[in-house]
Amino acid sequence: MIVHKFGGTSVGDAGRFANVADIVMGQYRAGEGATPRPTVVVLSAMCGVTDQLIAAARAAAEGRSARYREIKAALLSRHLEVVEGLLSAGLARLEAGGFVEDQLHDLERLYRSIAVLGEVTARGYDAVASFGEQLSTHILAAALRERGARAQALNAAELIVSDDNYGEAAPLMAPTRRRLQERLLPLVQRGVIPIITGYVAATEEGVTTTLGRGGSDYTAAIVGAVLGAREVWIWSDVDGILTADPNIVPRARSIAELTYAEAANLAYFGADVLHPNTIRPVVEGRIPLCIRNTFNPAHPGTRIVEQPSADRTLFPAIISTTGLS
Ligand code: ASP
Ligand code: MG
Repeated sequence: MIVHKFGGTSVGDAGRFANVADIVMGQYRAGEGATPRPTVVVLSAMCGVTDQLIAAARAAAEGRSARYREIKAALLSRHLEVVEGLLSAGLARLEAGGFVEDQLHDLERLYRSIAVLGEVTARGYDAVASFGEQLSTHILAAALRERGARAQALNAAELIVSDDNYGEAAPLMAPTRRRLQERLLPLVQRGVIPIITGYVAATEEGVTTTLGRGGSDYTAAIVGAVLGAREVWIWSDVDGILTADPNIVPRARSIAELTYAEAANLAYFGADVLHPNTIRPVVEGRIPLCIRNTFNPAHPGTRIVEQPSADRTLFPAIISTTGLS
């Protein structure tokens, strides 16, 4: 089994959604003989959506009703545009469009209650911030079904159990393991491709939480580790982890291999491609973590492993931190 995580820029518009659907189908059909390869997808919200969801919650709390309504309308038309551009069958469009409308209707009710209260709690932020992934997963699942796969969107609030540290919740591994084994494994064994919301979790009581901004990488690592995936692939918009920040060093090139410790350090000190917690879950199971580019899928990207090959260069990358003083 391979767990694939796609980031927000990989699903920025209808064309990019189609590209992701094609990549997933290619991976799914890469199985031996006629049996599809067990495939799990973890997906982010479309790029910019989580920021907008949070900005609208803030606007609602400050009584700027026109602003939150405007953001909600923009989110509605952006997602409906994707549904129109991506799905060809009338029924699939109708179903996905209806889902988007229902979700945004619920979201507006949440904003309205925030506006009435005049404040937004940490719990309220997470409730609002989790909407982007609900929308994107539902749309991608529909696109995969049109391509002939059995795909199902799943809300990770029902799969990943966390503490109640809203905004930066920590997963509770024992109940998470139980849920993933009970609910996800049977689907995968039946040849279904689950499309799971990244970033989202819930407390044991079922209250929605989030794993911190950029947390979809972390979700993919948790799912991969618990299910004993062969590899976890993080699909992003760069050819893996680079030797330096390309904005500062134009000749920066991608690194073929890194150790878990090196990748964890790079992520911790701010290399933007990986959520810093992502390494931890995969270390114990020695599951390789691969960083690949959705816009250049033929490029091998970066492989993060326990033991890199002996002929690797000694210093893999340079990172700088500005503004410390
Ligand atoms: N959508 C969330 C964010 O923007 C999580 C993610 O993309 O990984 O932070
Ligand atoms: Mg990210």
